[in-house]
Amino acid sequence: MSRKYKITVACAALILLFSAFFFFYQKQQEKQTEPVSVTGFKLNTMIKITVYDKINTELLEHAMALCDTYESLFSRTLSTSEIYKLNHGTLPEKNGFFEVSPETAELVRKGLYYAELSEGAFDLSLAPVSSLWDFTSEEKVIPEPDALKNALPLVDYKNITVEGNAIHFEKEGMGLDLGAIAKGYIADKIKEFLVSKGVKSGIINLGGNVLCIGSQPDGTPFKIGIQKPFSDRGETSITINVSDKSVVSSGIYERYFKKDGILYHHILNPKTGMPYANDLVSVTILSDQSVDGDALSTSCFALGAEKGMALVESLENTEAVFITENGEFLYSSGFPVSDK
Ligand code: ADP
Ligand code: MG
Repeated sequence: MSRKYKITVACAALILLFSAFFFFYQKQQEKQTEPVSVTGFKLNTMIKITVYDKINTELLEHAMALCDTYESLFSRTLSTSEIYKLNHGTLPEKNGFFEVSPETAELVRKGLYYAELSEGAFDLSLAPVSSLWDFTSEEKVIPEPDALKNALPLVDYKNITVEGNAIHFEKEGMGLDLGAIAKGYIADKIKEFLVSKGVKSGIINLGGNVLCIGSQPDGTPFKIGIQKPFSDRGETSITINVSDKSVVSSGIYERYFKKDGILYHHILNPKTGMPYANDLVSVTILSDQSVDGDALSTSCFALGAEKGMALVESLENTEAVFITENGEFLYSSGFPVSDK
């Protein structure tokens, strides 16, 4: 065998080896940037948690399990939950104060803050009224006027006191509904957990309550679609670029029924017990923490376009888009305009 021939063979072998190495390296890279997701029906809605940079399904299963943990605290309808027991007076009590978990006390404090901020348009003491409605069944039940009349005096956040981890109601029969704030709180807690495990890129989607962890693996922002009111889930009206932020919407199209041509939706006026009637179909809040976005999306919807937008403008690091009945989009001054 000539020397030249040997060198050619050696070179060819080397090139082959390099190509193979490169091929497997690339495959490995691809594998690492392929997102992993878990999905499920929890908290009465569709949940999807996606992680882009840490391929660890055990981590995601744990994140999912956190939904159950918090549901067992905050659910108004689950008869084993802490809030259910609080609302039914079956929690341990001392001098009129019911002992709750630190998490429930923390969330109730947040709820009270937003009740105050919205001057009661958002009111976490809504349970006596909201329990008269059912927006999930086929039955289309509108509460009897008498039942509403009896329940309304029991709704007033000013009659709630929190001391440490204990809660006191001023009137018997009062109860909490954390439905407008709990998903945001849970999303924040899931993010906290995933970040503590080293996740730098991911999306937590609790029924449209979206919280981003960092940005996409290539460093570009996530593209989050804002749902088109009354269209199939997934159909979006606008898409915004977000990194490490929460995007939460409240709207009349989320849970509603129609009876005799009237649309009844689940954001209720604590003063009347009836759905808020303004010309809004949805409010989307862009914020750092999802608990704030969740509380604010409901609060701003309840306040209506003018007062709601004024509230958003008064807050730091908070932006919003309101969609009106006639299809108008109202943006806050710092909304990421280029992505409209
Ligand atoms: P979603 O649950 O679709 O994300 P929201 O965050 O706006 O929507 O929460 C709506 C839920 O909040 C209702 O189902 C009810 O449990 C509760 N709620 C309704 N009206 C009010 C209100 N005015 N203040 C506080 N909570 C409310
Ligand atoms: Mg909300």
